[in-house]
Amino acid sequence: MTRDSRYDILFEPIRIGPVTARNRFYQVPHCNGMGYRDVSGLAAMRGMKAEGGWGVVCTEMVELHAASDVAPYVELRNWDDQDIPTLARIADKIHEHQSLAGLELCHSGYTAANLYSRETPIAPMAMNTSTYHFDPVHARAMDKQDIKDLRRTHRAAALRGRKAGYDLIYVYAGHGLGIFQQFLSRATNDRADEYGGSLENRARLLREVIEDTKDAVGDTCAVPVRIAMSEFLGSDGLEPAEVEDAIAMMAELPDLWDLSLSAWPKDSQTSRFSEEGFQEPYIKGVKKLTSKPVVGVGRYTSPDAMVRVIRQGIMDMIGAARPSIADPYLPKKIEEGRLDDIRECIGCNICVTGDYTKTPLRCTQNPSMGEEWRKGWHPEHIRAKAREAQILIIGAGPAGLEAGRALGQRGYQVTIADKAREAGGRVARECRLPGLAAWGRVRDWRLLQIGKMTNVNLYLESDVTADTALEFGADHIVCATGALWRRDGAGHHQYLPLAVDAAADVLTPDDVMSGVRPKSREAIVFDDDHYYMASVLCELLVKDGIKVTYVTPAAVAAAYTVNTMEQKLIQARLLELGVTVVTAEALSEVTAQGLVTSCIYTGKERRHAAGSVVLVTSRKGDDALYRELKERGAKVTAIGDAWAPAAIAHAVYAGRRFAEEFDTSPRDMMETPFRRELLTLAGS
Ligand code: ADP
Ligand code: SF4
Repeated sequence: MTRDSRYDILFEPIRIGPVTARNRFYQVPHCNGMGYRDVSGLAAMRGMKAEGGWGVVCTEMVELHAASDVAPYVELRNWDDQDIPTLARIADKIHEHQSLAGLELCHSGYTAANLYSRETPIAPMAMNTSTYHFDPVHARAMDKQDIKDLRRTHRAAALRGRKAGYDLIYVYAGHGLGIFQQFLSRATNDRADEYGGSLENRARLLREVIEDTKDAVGDTCAVPVRIAMSEFLGSDGLEPAEVEDAIAMMAELPDLWDLSLSAWPKDSQTSRFSEEGFQEPYIKGVKKLTSKPVVGVGRYTSPDAMVRVIRQGIMDMIGAARPSIADPYLPKKIEEGRLDDIRECIGCNICVTGDYTKTPLRCTQNPSMGEEWRKGWHPEHIRAKAREAQILIIGAGPAGLEAGRALGQRGYQVTIADKAREAGGRVARECRLPGLAAWGRVRDWRLLQIGKMTNVNLYLESDVTADTALEFGADHIVCATGALWRRDGAGHHQYLPLAVDAAADVLTPDDVMSGVRPKSREAIVFDDDHYYMASVLCELLVKDGIKVTYVTPAAVAAAYTVNTMEQKLIQARLLELGVTVVTAEALSEVTAQGLVTSCIYTGKERRHAAGSVVLVTSRKGDDALYRELKERGAKVTAIGDAWAPAAIAHAVYAGRRFAEEFDTSPRDMMETPFRRELLTLAGS
C-alpha cells in the first residue's frame, strides 16, 4: 500500500537552521523515568521512534550541570565530559534511521532542589524550591556572576551535546521547569536589575542564551526554543499575549519555536479533560510572528487533523510525545497507507506515571514501550511460532485481546471466548463512563487487528466452564477472566473486609456500570481505591440527579492521579459538581441505619445518615475457573486482572507477555526476567 496523496504535506522535508528534517513528524522532548539509569533502554526507545518514521526525535530534559539536579527524578545528565558517551548512544540510535536527534538542555532553577548534589539551588529570585514533596530547601537569588556562570555552563553543555552527535540543541523555557521561563515570568522574577521588570528585561537572559548557543553550535546544529505559551496564572504570570510579544522580540533568533503550556499538567492533559488539538488556541498566533518553523502538540493521532493544522498555517511540524509513545510507527503507517493500523493514544497518562514514580515508561496501548531493549519487544513485530499449537483464551478484555492478537501474529491457532455480548471486558464498560470514551481504543485497535487474522476466532456470549474448556481440546488454556470489585470494603486503608450489613444498600462499581442505581437519592461514594473510578462514578451519579458525598481516607480525592497529573482537575470537577468531598475519613461500618466513618488521625467516629453507599475499594481476581482447570490437570495460565488486578496497562502487558513467552522454556523464578544496565564501578 502507498500513502494517500492528501498526506503528502506531512512528508515534505523542512529546513531547521543548518539541518533538514525528512518529514513533519517531530517527537518533542518527553520524560520517561529511564534517564541516566537505564540508558540502553532509553536509547532503544528513542531509536524505535526514528525507525517508525519520526523525522526529529528528542531526548527528555537533560540536566546541564550537577547544580541543577532534579533527583529523585531520573532524567538524563550532561554534567561534564563523562556524560558524552551516554548522550552519544542515544543520538546514534536515532541516526541509524536518518532522523535528527534533539537534545533538550535544562537548568531547572527553583524546581531543582539539588537533593543529590547538595549544591545550593538558584533562581531568578530568592524563593522556595518547588518539589512534589515540599522539600525545605530554598533557592538563592542569582547575582550577576551566577548569570554569567549559567551562560557559560549552558554553552559548555551545548558543545558537549554537539560532540555527542546531536543535531538540535534546545534552549528550554517551558513547563515552569526551564530557568529561562522563570526569568521571563513575573510570577518568579522580582528582580530590580536589567534582568527583571519590563518584558524586555525579563527576556534578556533567554535572548542571551539563544545567542550564546547559536554562537557555540549554531553553524552545524539547529537551536530550537521551547517556550510556555501560558502559565494559567492570569496577569500574575505568563499569558499568551505577553509570550507572543516575547516571541516577536526574538522571532528570528532561534531556528524553531516549540510551543507548550505550563506547568506540565496543563501541557499533557488527559482525554478525560481535553480533546485532540486542545492547544491550538495557544499556538495559532505564533506563525505570523516568525518565519521559523513552529511546532506544537495536542495529542494528534488523526492524520487529517495533522494535515489541517499545517494547511491552516497553525504549525509547520506535528509535535507529539504521547502519540509517539502509543505508536512509534505512526508516521510509517501514514506513509504506507495503513491508517487503521495506527494505535491511537487513549490519553490516560499512564506513561507519565513512569516519570512520577521514577520507573521506566510504560504505555496502556503499546505494551512494548520501555521494553525494546530490556525484553527485546518490538511494537510491530514478534517472532513466528515455534511449533503448531491451538490456544483457548477465556475472556476478551484487554489481557485476552492482546494475548490473542499477539499469539495470532505469531501464527498460532487462537480461539477467544467471552461470555459478554460485546468484547473489551472492563474497557467496554469503563469507556461508557463520563470522560473515558477514548479508552475504548484499547479494544477497538485489537479487535481490528484480530479481525484481519484468519487464525484468530472470537466468540461472544460463550460462557466457558471447566468442562467446556477441557472438551475444546486446546494445547493451552489462558484464563483472562478479569476481576470483580469487592463488596466488603477491603481496600488500601483497610486490607481486611469490613462489617457490611446485608440490609444496607451497597453498590460496587460493577453494579453501577451494569446500570444499577442507588435506591436513595443520596449516596456516599467511598474511595479507598484512589484512582479514577470513584470520581468518575461521582460524576455519573450527579448527572443522574443523586446528591453525592465523596469520602476517602486519603488527604485528597483520587490521590493516585497525582501521577497522571489529573488530581487537581478531578478534585475541582467534584467540587464544581456540588459533590461534598470528605478527606482523611476511613470507613468503619456499613449498617442499614447509616455509615460510620472515623478520622484517620484521631479515630473519632462520625455517623452518616442512612442512604446508599458505593464502595470503590479494591478488586478481586475472578480466578475460580483457572483454579478448577489447574486442579484438573489442564495446561492453563491466568493472566491480567484474573491473576492480580491492576490498571488496564498491566492487563495489556500481561497479554503481550504471555504471547512473547509462550513456547519458551519456563523461567526460573530466581532469574532476573529482563536485561538491565549495570554500573561500572569507579576506582576506589
Ligand atoms: P482483563 O483486564 O484482565 O483483560 P477484564 O475484566 O477486562 O480483564 O475482562 C475479563 C473478561 O472475561 C470479561 O469480558 C468477562 O466477560 C470474561 N469472562 C470471565 N469469565 C468468563 C467465562 N467463564 N467464560 C467466558 N468469559 C468470561
Ligand atoms: Fe497515550 Fe496512555 Fe500510552 Fe500515555 S500511556 S501514550 S496517554 S495511551
